[in-house]
Amino acid sequence: MSSQYQSVHLAARPTSEIVPGETFEVKSNAAPKESDLKDGQVIFRSLYLSLDPAMRGWLNVAIGTVEASKSDRFPVGTLATGFVGWTELAVVDEKTLERVDLPSNGRTTDALGVLGMTGLTAYFGIINVGEVKEGDFVVVSGAAGATGSVVAQIAKLKGAKVLGLAGSDDKVSWLKNDLGLDDALNYKDADFTTKFRAATKGLIDVFFDNVGGEILDLALSRAKPFSRFVCCGAISDYNSASPRGLKNYMMIISMRIRMQGFIVFDFADQYATARQQLAQWLNEGKLQRKETVIEGGLAKAEQGLRDLYKGVNTGKLLVEVSKQKDG
Ligand code: NDP
Repeated sequence: MSSQYQSVHLAARPTSEIVPGETFEVKSNAAPKESDLKDGQVIFRSLYLSLDPAMRGWLNVAIGTVEASKSDRFPVGTLATGFVGWTELAVVDEKTLERVDLPSNGRTTDALGVLGMTGLTAYFGIINVGEVKEGDFVVVSGAAGATGSVVAQIAKLKGAKVLGLAGSDDKVSWLKNDLGLDDALNYKDADFTTKFRAATKGLIDVFFDNVGGEILDLALSRAKPFSRFVCCGAISDYNSASPRGLKNYMMIISMRIRMQGFIVFDFADQYATARQQLAQWLNEGKLQRKETVIEGGLAKAEQGLRDLYKGVNTGKLLVEVSKQKDG
């Protein structure tokens, strides 16, 4: 084990966009020693760090391995996830870690993506909150992202017709050709509004919203009576000092829309069941996932987070913190 390790800390909470060199600072620390561990503690080495849009960092979870241990539950080599911060190494109590048991065709990174927080968010959001059912016309914003891509596929598995919205032609083609969505549109196209109106002629039963702002407003104008609007995220406003309001607010009244926000933690008591179902779909080849992995270690995390808002990722965005040892 090297005698030093790096960690990244919040230096100044940003009021709008993340400022390079000001928002975060990288620190070098003396590596912990096994002899310093108390009972129940382990030394956790991060392998991959999850980059998440919400609040620019408060949800960051990492997957890693136990490098030294005084815990019977987490012997050396155990794969686990934890909210350990942006760090290469951490001394943590066993209670703060969650053991990872991957399905037969699972990848280490799945524990942060399709079988982790974004997969669970997708599952509960579209099934429990959106109450998706056969024959629904579902529109998903942020559809090529970690959460949206799983939402769109679950909706298809439930027999819905699905339109995905994303920010590049490559993403649109991935959604249509690889994930099998019925239709997908690039919201950055100059004639997006016209295309959106044409694609939603039959009006929307379920709108799964990851982005908020103008796209949500547009979707409100195409809502069916008694439609369900699942408010999962509003990334278009996260970096804005003054978020915009909704012009089409009154559609909620006239169309009797049920608009419901949710936080994935609301469903913590059902994670195991959801993970089992997601793993089964994965094993059966019914669910596809993609990751965008940033290499180069923790020092790349800040730029990675800034790029997340520019749509650099297809599927789950991760930073490779340490190389995984074989076996
Ligand atoms: P994603 O993998 O979806 O990455 C974010 C994507 O958002 C980018 O790839 C980009 O894709 C898109 N985007 C960025 N800026 C804009 C914009 N101005 N307008 C439209 N799209 C934009 O991230 P996650 O899957 O981790 O998160 C998706 C959403 O779900 C976020 O809003 C997040 O906060 C929320 N969330 C909510 C949870 C909950 O419990 N409610 C839990 C986890 C996440 P593109 O190229 O298409 O622009």
